[in-house]
Amino acid sequence: MLLIRCPYCEEELPELEFRNAGEAHVTRAVDLASLSDEDFEAFFFIRSNSKGIIYERWRHMHGCARFFNAVRDTVTDKFLMTYKAGEPKPDVAGAARPTAAKPARKRTTKKAGA
Ligand SMILES: [Zn+2]
Repeated sequence: MLLIRCPYCEEELPELEFRNAGEAHVTRAVDLASLSDEDFEAFFFIRSNSKGIIYERWRHMHGCARFFNAVRDTVTDKFLMTYKAGEPKPDVAGAARPTAAKPARKRTTKKAGA
């Protein structure tokens, strides 16, 4: 079982107390209505889902109920660190780049049997 440290409660607790809330540090546009459909799709649906070190949001559901961020290695499933929401993104070697700066990807359709 994974142990996750809540930066607010300052305790290391079993993962069952927590819930993953997706990728951290996704920048929200000031005016979502002005985004093109492709840019909105990139903001709303596209996440980096990289292998290795990632930044995630977590919520301490069965404790303080607060959101915080974590740096986790998806290969080893180990938490490198956790930090409070709103704190700057720590610079961790080998970490994935944030998705907000990525341009929208173009869709490609593959034909069956091609
Ligand atoms: Zn907590």
